[in-house]
Amino acid sequence: MDIKNNILETIGNTPLVQLHKVVRDLPCRVLMKVETFNPGHSIKDRMALKMVEDAEADGRLQPGGTIIECTSGNTGMGLALAACVRGYRCIFTTSDKQSKEKLDILRAMGAEVIVCPTNVTPEDPRSYYSVARRLSEEIPNSFWFNQYDNLSNRLAHYESTGPEIWRQTDGQITHLVVGVGTGGTISGTGRYLKEQNPAVQVWGVDTYGSVFKKYHETGEFDEKEIYPYITEGIGEDILPANVDFSVIDLFEKVTDKDGAVMARRLAREEGLLLGYSAGSAVAGLLQLRDRLKPDDLVVVVIHDHGSRYIGKLYNDDWMRDRGFLDTELRVRDLITQK
Ligand code: PMP
Repeated sequence: MDIKNNILETIGNTPLVQLHKVVRDLPCRVLMKVETFNPGHSIKDRMALKMVEDAEADGRLQPGGTIIECTSGNTGMGLALAACVRGYRCIFTTSDKQSKEKLDILRAMGAEVIVCPTNVTPEDPRSYYSVARRLSEEIPNSFWFNQYDNLSNRLAHYESTGPEIWRQTDGQITHLVVGVGTGGTISGTGRYLKEQNPAVQVWGVDTYGSVFKKYHETGEFDEKEIYPYITEGIGEDILPANVDFSVIDLFEKVTDKDGAVMARRLAREEGLLLGYSAGSAVAGLLQLRDRLKPDDLVVVVIHDHGSRYIGKLYNDDWMRDRGFLDTELRVRDLITQK
């Protein structure tokens, strides 16, 4: 018999899938690490379970305790899965720009979700960081996981995502491309791969409105870089402890429009219905095409599933209202002409 004891045992060992049509202008093979195959449909199941296990191991999380976290949804889903199986309560704070689908899914998993304003500074008492901190101080037997600074986050990827990619590519990977939010995925995966082969290039994908690229290039935390954007899951207005800038070779910024349009193309041309940051990651890679050679083997890590964006990215009215659909229509015309 081949039986999993519980749903948490299905986390990881996701497939690598090759891209074809959307990367036809690139000289080399591009593989997607499709993390939507995790039980919570995102890569965050890996770090959520690791954060719970580490907090249990050192007593920060006690039996029957309350997990508190600021999350755009995917980390919340992973934590909610772990909480169901291991008997914890969850309270999540999130920002008001997140998809309704993400919040509804968290509530369906038994979590309490508190929606906070996006356009306030992290120090503002209304921000989702501040509300999470306050709740963790007020609620007895609770623990705020703080995925930004909790290093179990990047360790999860050092221990699982990195070794899987190394094994699946038979050590042939030359480039890792990852959208960066907390920085856990790129830092843990990138460190493991560079330890196996220091020549592996690690490229971070950032958004306009985020501080990462400028900070990486100049060491300056430039507040002028910070402004509202639509892309979900990547880019930050803080420098999380999980971002290990020393393993990242470069950052590339992608516009809200280019990320959204590429996500639509991945669905229609490759059969991959993925989240917003997947579109951004592939669009970022295409912007960097001049740096690639025929023998390269690129792995793009895909964070989450498109089902969470049906009312947004995959809704024509939503796309049109933001001026994103003109390109999409051209893309559709191109396909039908072929
Ligand atoms: N894409 C999505 C959809 C995410 O939810 C996240 C996590 N914020 C990321 C990308 C970035 O991953 P990480 O936090 O590991 O940098």
